[in-house]
Amino acid sequence: MTASATGSARFLIVGPQGSGKGTQGVLVAEAFGVPQVATGDIFRANVAGGTELGKRVQAIIEAGDLVPDALTSELVRDRLEQADAAQGFLLDGYPRNRGQVDDLAAFLTARGEALDAVIELDVPRRESIARLHDRAVQQGRTDDTEEVIANRLAIYERETAPILDVYREHGLVVKIDGVGTLDEVTQRIFEGLATRGLVAGAAA
Ligand code: AMP
Repeated sequence: MTASATGSARFLIVGPQGSGKGTQGVLVAEAFGVPQVATGDIFRANVAGGTELGKRVQAIIEAGDLVPDALTSELVRDRLEQADAAQGFLLDGYPRNRGQVDDLAAFLTARGEALDAVIELDVPRRESIARLHDRAVQQGRTDDTEEVIANRLAIYERETAPILDVYREHGLVVKIDGVGTLDEVTQRIFEGLATRGLVAGAAA
């Protein structure tokens, strides 16, 4: 099976914390047979494992601030160079600002590759805050406290949301209403991708 009707499936999923992008990203990646690469998950695994990288980023993550671009982009490049990402990937949580957008573009261009779609999960602020509070109760993440949540959402609005304008200019953004049941939102994503000829599992 190939990644999509066009032969590749290089996706970003972008949305505020609490938009459900982690869950949806896994489902889309599985359907297209590409790895889901979530920088937040990679950082958290390193913190939990007590690695050198984990020690460098722990305090930054606990404050809800952004890890420096150079470190984050290197981590992503290393991951995307692995064989399982040759036909595609779904990036969740990266890029998160303009510098990272440029880093990713430089990496892909050097490889003769390009993004196929940027999935924007649109969720109103009050809804994502409510979902983050629920998750804080359920998972007990150290960066899901009231103060840190506010910082993370402020960074999203200031630095991350504007990257969608860059991708919109390139005609890459598939905007999805993220309010609804998990299944409804998944369905909308597949329909949105299909309008661009991106159909999971289709023959090349
Ligand atoms: P997330 O699970 O995507 O919300 O990420 C958790 C935390 O990891 C963020 O609050 C940041 O501290 C860090 N992080 C994840 N992705 C990035 C990124 N692309 N750039 C900088 N920091 C990141």
